[in-house]
Parts: sequence; C-alpha cells; structure tokens
Amino acid sequence: MIRVDLGGKVALVTGAGRGIGAAIARRLGASGAHVIVNYRSSEAEAHAVTKSILDAGGHAVAVQGDIGDAESTEALFAGVLKQHGDLDILINNAGVVKDGLLVTMRDADWQRVIDVNLTGLMRTTRLALRSMMRARKGSIVNLASIQALRGGRGQANYAAAKAGVLGLTRAAALEVADRGVRVNAVLPGFIETDMTQVIQRRAGDTVLAQIPQARFGQPEDVACLVAFLASEAAAYITGQALVVDGGLSIA
Ligand code: NAP
Repeated sequence: MIRVDLGGKVALVTGAGRGIGAAIARRLGASGAHVIVNYRSSEAEAHAVTKSILDAGGHAVAVQGDIGDAESTEALFAGVLKQHGDLDILINNAGVVKDGLLVTMRDADWQRVIDVNLTGLMRTTRLALRSMMRARKGSIVNLASIQALRGGRGQANYAAAKAGVLGLTRAAALEVADRGVRVNAVLPGFIETDMTQVIQRRAGDTVLAQIPQARFGQPEDVACLVAFLASEAAAYITGQALVVDGGLSIA
C-alpha cells in the first residue's frame, strides 16, 4: 500500500458518496487531507463516507452539488472556496453511463453522458484552476476509462466523453504546468461498483476471462493511484494517463 502525506491539503472529490469516489475520499482522508465529499443524490451514503473519515480521526464534510448543472457547480465551488480558502486537490470522479448501440442512441442519452462526464468535468477544472493558479499549487486527477482507448460496444457516448477527458487533461496540464499545477488522468478497467453491476451480471465470466490478473478491480485499487497522483510524491508527473486495469488493456 502506497502511503502518501496529504496533511493540511483541502481536497474535493466529486461523486464521492459511493463507488470509486467513496474509496478515493476515504483514502485521501486517511492520508490527512480535509476531504469535501460531493454527492448529487446519494446523501445518506455521502454522510456515511464523511462519518467514516471523521471516525478514523480525519477531516471531512459532505456537500451536495450536481456536476451536470452549471449553476449548481458554481454554487458548490463558491461554498467550498468561502469555507476553505484555496483548493489543493480536485478529483473529477462523478460519472454516468447511458449505454446503447450508436445506431439507435437517443440524443438525450448522448447529451447526458457528455454533460456530466466531460462538460461538467471541464467546469469543475476551470473553477479549480482559478484558485490553484492564484496559489501556484494544486493537483487535479480526472477519472477517464480504458474505454477512451478501446471504445466499447454500446458505449459511444461514454467512450467519446472519456476520450475528451484525456484531451482536456493534456491541454490543461500544458497550460498550467509553469504555475505549479498538475493535471493527470487515470483510466480504470473493470472495477466492481454499481456502474458495472449489470455487465457483471450479464457477462461477468466473459469479462473476467479477459483480465490477466484474473480478478475484477476494486475501488481501492483506483484510490491508491489517485492518492499518489494527488500527492507531492508525484510532483514531476503531469499530463499523463495512467491505466489501472489488471492488464485488461494489454491482453
Ligand atoms: P458509480 O458507482 O455509478 O457512481 C457514480 C458516482 O458519480 C456516484 O457517486 C454519483 O453520485 C456520481 N454522479 C453521477 N452524476 C453526478 C452528478 N451529476 N453530479 C455529481 N455526482 C454525480 O460509478 P463508479 O464505478 O464509482 O465510477 C466513478 C468514476 O470512475 C466515473 O467517472 C466512471 O466513469 C469511472 N470509471 C469507472 C469504471 C468502473 O469499472 N466502475 C471504469 C472506468 C472508469 P450520486 O449517487 O450522488 O448521484
């Protein structure tokens, strides 16, 4: 287990009530960060994540905000910056899927996935950068996906959004590197969460057979990498896209 020191850092994790976001929030909390646990609808779960961090001796607060909505996102950031001053770490984790074959994909399903996974991430990044560039420090970690590289049947909207996240990550990293701010992306493979439940039920054995490490990923597998990238241990890493998939994408 990588141990990093995030003592004194303020970290916002979007969509942190459940799944990978919850594991990231817990890991950052265990590493000493003051964690802002954002949720859209999973209020009880977000408070449970916050409580678990507090119970372990850390610092955390749960804050509602819809990353797919411009006004809500701006209100979220206004509150966070008023309460905590500068933001040191932003983890863009909030994401949705609306799977379906492209030939019959509804515009609404395309748009929702782009709105949350790409446009929402652009807005949170833009808002965070204003604070980070002023402070001349900060680390942003974006949750992309190996589907950004591979595509994926029935996931044209999701693959396009996540490929966009990679482009945004690199462009943003270039723009702010000389201001002491780093921007990186992680590309998880198949991680056991609510998002992958349906696929696991329908085709779990087929997917598992393709994973060289012969197990599904766990949210903690992703959280360790995210905590490392967020920390000073990764001080010379920016604009990168790191895969965490048990070997799935090289098989
Ligand atoms: P999940 O279990 O479905 O959880 C999704 C999270 O995103 C929830 O906490 C949800 O919050 C939040 N969210 C969705 N829409 C939001 C919005 N408009 N505003 C704020 N939060 C919102 O998904 P996951 O598997 O943990 O995935 C987390 C991230 O990793 C996503 O970006 C996903 O694309 C990426 N990823 C996952 C996998 C995988 O295999 N699981 C693989 C590659 C990449 P509420 O419940 O509060 O609505």
